[in-house]
Amino acid sequence: KKIIVWFKRDFRFIDNPALYYAAQDGVVIPVYIHFPTSIKGKLTNSEIFHDQALLSFQKTINQSGGRLLIREEDPATILPKLIQEAGANALYFNLSYEPEQVQLDQYIYDNTLVPVQRFHAGLLTEPGTILNKQGKPYKVFTSFWKSLSSFPIQKPLPQPKEITWEQSEVNEKEPIFENTTISSHWKAGGEKEALNKLQLFLENQLEDYKTYRDYPGMDATSRLSPHLAQGEISPRLIWHETQEQLELTGMEKELSHTYEESAEAFLKQLVWRDFAYHQLAVFPHIVNQPPLQPSYRNFPWIAKEQEIFAKWKDGLTGYPIVDAGMRELNETGYMHNRVRMITASFLVKHLLIHWGEGQAWFEKQLVDHDLANNTMGWQWVAGTGFDASPFFRIFNPIKQAEKFDPPDGIYIRKWVPELKTLPTKYIYHPAEAPKDILNQASVTIGQDYPAPIVEHRFARERALEAFQNMKREG
Ligand code: FAD
Repeated sequence: KKIIVWFKRDFRFIDNPALYYAAQDGVVIPVYIHFPTSIKGKLTNSEIFHDQALLSFQKTINQSGGRLLIREEDPATILPKLIQEAGANALYFNLSYEPEQVQLDQYIYDNTLVPVQRFHAGLLTEPGTILNKQGKPYKVFTSFWKSLSSFPIQKPLPQPKEITWEQSEVNEKEPIFENTTISSHWKAGGEKEALNKLQLFLENQLEDYKTYRDYPGMDATSRLSPHLAQGEISPRLIWHETQEQLELTGMEKELSHTYEESAEAFLKQLVWRDFAYHQLAVFPHIVNQPPLQPSYRNFPWIAKEQEIFAKWKDGLTGYPIVDAGMRELNETGYMHNRVRMITASFLVKHLLIHWGEGQAWFEKQLVDHDLANNTMGWQWVAGTGFDASPFFRIFNPIKQAEKFDPPDGIYIRKWVPELKTLPTKYIYHPAEAPKDILNQASVTIGQDYPAPIVEHRFARERALEAFQNMKREG
């Protein structure tokens, strides 16, 4: 039996059910199809990372004796052609969870003339399986987490022992590969690199994850997000490897309380990803940015002023923690989770710009862009999502910086180098530093570093007033 395995964003051999079962059932014809939308215009950073992932995967298949067929056409048109050309008897693929792709998967399933097998591979649990007593999706994360963690999470499938690849003569197309600064920050090592990162994280960082995960100046999180977004690593594998690491450590030494708490904190973050996808499955329209909570439809957003928005994008707001985050994003395609919350909050609450604008900018810049996580992240910050941070809780960007960038603003000094010689006392709010201190550090506010584009207290009151107006009108 000849089986086409249609790869999408599941570039891995371990815990890849479509590949695993195809290898068991017959000869495998590996296919990847560039969606026409992703080959138009300038690539976003996550598309560049996607190309790197595709290239690595293509190499891995080559090394194991196969050839990945790459096509650039609408999958609905090209798949039937490929099936016919290759004389394939079946089509296997792992399911997508993004609304448009879900529809495409269904179309392919309904219209393919050979038998089709579909598998769940991208999440810990299938959307639609974690429901409350009324059979409805959870809106509160803690309940979702409790329910999910009481389920047995499926064990990851191993790498197929042997794969018989179809020996095709077709010259596969090289993926478009852009060498940009992003490539220098993210090693294109494919699945191997992702597994390596997980191992190093479990061995060296997991124990202190709970203590340090909120500090952007420390290398305390896994940085697995771009790999997860491209399916270079399976969340089920991460789940079980983390549990195993915990058991192993428990046997070796007196299992410290912090170790256990850290493992739980890490797994909880992974479950936020499932939470986001489960929401997207039930409310697919949220990708177009309507607020999940309808009262926010009347929110009096300020029309986007290009100049102000550009200052936020470029990291020139005059608030060092916000600027550090935006510059880290622009330079590396990544931003630490705590700082994503602070910068997003600043845009939505201090500048009163609709979160959709920020969401779109993150979509362009993030190397780990993920439709579900980005949508949920922004609605969480804006207070419009489920189990979101309430709108009236307004982050003070100076206090946040003092709290999360201790002891001396290491993260700010790295990303806002013009402030790097300022004493710690003023690194979080340089505009308030006395003249002589600024002189000593050779910083002139308004020249070397901007004055705050909006005053915190004013912005806070304006945001609260807008919120009250919305409630009154809603
Ligand atoms: P770790 O702390 O090591 O966590 C492990 C994994 O858990 C992550 O790789 C990620 O897959 C998942 N995870 C962690 N935190 C979250 C979270 N808050 N929500 C959902 N999943 C989470 N994450 C993305 O993957 N893509 C996005 O486009 C994205 N956009 C965001 C936008 C905003 C405004 C905010 C506030 C958060 C966003 N996040 C997004 C979530 C989070 O910031 C990143 O997943 C995390 O910073 C990735 O770093 P890490 O892999 O080192 O995380």
